[in-house]
Amino acid sequence: MEKTIVTQDSMETIALGKKLGALLKPGHVLLLSGDLGAGKTTFTKGVGQALEIKRVINSPTFTIAKEYRGNCKLCHLDLYRLESLGDDFDLEEYFNEDVITVVEWPYNVRELWPNEYLMIEITLHGTKRNITLKPCGKKYETILEALYV
Ligand code: ADP
Ligand code: MG
Repeated sequence: MEKTIVTQDSMETIALGKKLGALLKPGHVLLLSGDLGAGKTTFTKGVGQALEIKRVINSPTFTIAKEYRGNCKLCHLDLYRLESLGDDFDLEEYFNEDVITVVEWPYNVRELWPNEYLMIEITLHGTKRNITLKPCGKKYETILEALYV
């Protein structure tokens, strides 16, 4: 089962991220794929709103990872530049049972993905975005079933 939602502007993408974020628990992993400017970071801002994170979430492109604290911890990774940093990178150290982890540019580390995750693919269509949620693992299927969109 997968779901595709079309958003007309960034506010709608944030609202979708917020709806999903309200269903997430520490230990969950989101993989966010899509071109530069697709809206991955925008979607993550919505997740942050659901977690009541007050700090502004922006692209961590130059730092790989940023950690935020709201109702629970959020670890936001951007692996766009990873190739230029070499391959002694360990993705697993960012996954644990007390943090929600969001990974932008996950295909740069395809071999390091966890066994279960929620894949979110964003494609641009003019000003619209197609956002497809693809669960891998039972707990993510349950989340998607609970997501009313
Ligand atoms: P990414 O992290 O995928 O590189 P960003 O979220 O940083 O993308 O940027 C997306 C840009 O596209 C923002 O400037 C945002 O305002 C704009 N935008 C326009 N329409 C949408 C939409 N429907 N959803 C998300 N962002 C949108
Ligand atoms: Mg980004």
